[in-house]
Amino acid sequence: MTAQLLDGKQLAQDLRRQLRVARQALGSRPVRLVSVEVGQNPAADVYVRNQLRAAGEVGIEMEVSNLPLGTDEAQLVRAIEVLNERPEVAGVIVQRPLPPGIDPRVVQSAIAPHKDVEGMHPANMGAILYREPLLPPCTAAAAQHLIVSTGIDLRGAETVVVGHSEIVGKPIAVLLLHHLSTVTVCHVGTRRLIDHTRRADILVVAVGKAGLVHGDMVKPGAIVVDVGINQGADGRIVGDVHFASTVEVAGFLTPVPGGVGPVTVAMLLRNTLRAAGATV
Ligand code: NAD
Repeated sequence: MTAQLLDGKQLAQDLRRQLRVARQALGSRPVRLVSVEVGQNPAADVYVRNQLRAAGEVGIEMEVSNLPLGTDEAQLVRAIEVLNERPEVAGVIVQRPLPPGIDPRVVQSAIAPHKDVEGMHPANMGAILYREPLLPPCTAAAAQHLIVSTGIDLRGAETVVVGHSEIVGKPIAVLLLHHLSTVTVCHVGTRRLIDHTRRADILVVAVGKAGLVHGDMVKPGAIVVDVGINQGADGRIVGDVHFASTVEVAGFLTPVPGGVGPVTVAMLLRNTLRAAGATV
């Protein structure tokens, strides 16, 4: 079997088209997304460039606030509080990684929950246990969207999520649980990963280790969503899933780059429009 590639670029473009319509429906009301970064980080700069381009396409104004290296946690929190007070600012995103000494949880908690377009404030994270919140975590929402786009009936499907971080693995597991799939979460403490991955109808890998999952660990025909972003030996970006061996076995596979990443950016913009009052 050769897997069908789940084209995140195409899905993101379709989403942006819908989002543009939702933006237009808000009329002349300003919709502003503010990105806050401390110091300069090449990885974050790539994300910001992608976000700027996508926001422009949808009609969302994006403001980039670069705070100098040396900004401490209290100063960053203060800067966020100022953004919380600005009525035209619909959403605030804090770029990671943050410098040592700044706790990302403190920073995320400082963002007003209704402006937390990354969906990582404890209030939004907690709300996910009840149902999908208005502002779900973007990467989890993207993984969900990619899986649903295959047309699979999630009810009863064996779903394995590898990775249990707060921002990726756990919210993905909970979102897929809402669809009544049978979810197993694997992590650094899992004894024999292959025993779990091999029975997955849906396999989501979010670890940050290039090539952790090989084709021989995948059930034939499975939907495989590769969230990982790693720098390969030759400098190219690769996922956590070994592409060449897995594409021979899986039914659907997200490429890296061009899979989860672009859809995650589209979800950030969707959350921004929702935060501004759009129904989308
Ligand atoms: P993290 O370091 O916070 O968490 C890693 C997780 O992997 C942990 O839950 C850990 O238990 C698990 N793990 C580590 N080694 C393992 C092993 N050998 N077997 C099974 N599980 C193991 O990372 P994160 O922030 O969740 O990010 C994971 C990956 O997703 C990274 O590559 C990151 O760059 C990427 N990411 C992508 C997007 C996107 O939009 N595409 C967004 C966020 C993160």
